[in-house]
Amino acid sequence: MVKVQTLEQEKQQIRRMSELLRSGATMMSQVCPVCNTPLFRVKGQLLCPRCNKNVVVVKEGEEETTVASISVFGELENTVLNKLIEIDNAIKATKDVDRAKELANALSIWLDAFERLKRIQKISNPQASGS
Ligand SMILES: [Zn+2]
Repeated sequence: MVKVQTLEQEKQQIRRMSELLRSGATMMSQVCPVCNTPLFRVKGQLLCPRCNKNVVVVKEGEEETTVASISVFGELENTVLNKLIEIDNAIKATKDVDRAKELANALSIWLDAFERLKRIQKISNPQASGS
């Protein structure tokens, strides 16, 4: 048995994320220490949409947190890029209007995450931000 996330789980995760956003949750720059998924702030608490658990982040000032997370963000960037490609492919493949809408929602979530990542990387490491 290979332990990979099934497509169904993935769909559920994306659905949960868009539901969170719709219910007024904010996507955070912090990621879950367990699965590297961007965390959401819901009613003052951080929630991981993948683990479906509350996450406590110890904050020692914005700057320090950011610097400490550079390596995590590099990895996360790959994850986000892969997601964007997957979603793009799924949008092209689907003929269902509702599904396309759902995917567009997911796309905007991941694009948001990507933009945020880029911004954080630029702030924390201006020299290495060339592509
Ligand atoms: Zn998690």
